[in-house]
Amino acid sequence: MRKSLVAGNWKMHGSTVSIEQLLTGLTQDVLAPGQPALPVDVVVCPTYVHIPQALSQCAGSAIEIGSQDCSHVASGAFTGEVAATMLQDLGCHWVIIGHSERRQYHAESDDLVAAKLSAAIDSGLTPIVCVGETREQRESGEAESVVASQLAGALQGQARLEGLVIAYEPVWAIGTGLTATPEEAQDMHAFIRAQLSSVSGMDAEATRVLYGGSVKGSNAVELFAQQDIDGALVGGAALIVEEFLAIVQAAATQI
Ligand code: PEP
Repeated sequence: MRKSLVAGNWKMHGSTVSIEQLLTGLTQDVLAPGQPALPVDVVVCPTYVHIPQALSQCAGSAIEIGSQDCSHVASGAFTGEVAATMLQDLGCHWVIIGHSERRQYHAESDDLVAAKLSAAIDSGLTPIVCVGETREQRESGEAESVVASQLAGALQGQARLEGLVIAYEPVWAIGTGLTATPEEAQDMHAFIRAQLSSVSGMDAEATRVLYGGSVKGSNAVELFAQQDIDGALVGGAALIVEEFLAIVQAAATQI
């Protein structure tokens, strides 16, 4: 049985005041310190500069903290970069790798994604590796080959893939309000799991595959009811207390 995971990607949003309010809301409900543990892992990924605040405010609660990215190298003359080991040292447990916005706006290639994944694994962080096709690629029937190639590019030659999480995020569904239908998402998740079964050192049945792309409280239940959808990577709705908690509850009741 795979434990559900709901991860919030806050992207480049927030201030000390707004994050104080958001986390106060999130940690007063079922995720508050002392509440019975939910059967779902809950993660939020603020910007680098807000990670210490989030770690402090979430201490003792059911919320763990992740980063939205990390460097591909461990240390050195790389101005502006943040190493996975630094994030781990701060108290982060998770890191998003290869988000489509990194691939699109920062020209992250599959090779760079693979190097970041190695750095994350070496540091002990749990990576959430993002894959997904654009609208044009889906319309031209290339969705599966694009996702297969992104998976192969990231995972080939990696050691210690235990615990790694994959997030299927169709680019056309991110921040657009468009969501893959539960059936479309399930088909791709089953395809991803089949691909993972041929990766050496990977236990495909134990690997969590998240869906991402305009997930909200109102569509989470249907998505999570699909056999191969093990939770969500959430963007916009992760910034709204009621929405994020509704998604967490949907994941918790899916068990
Ligand atoms: C994301 O950025 O990973 C994401 C899924 O965004 P949204 O939920 O806003 O579509």
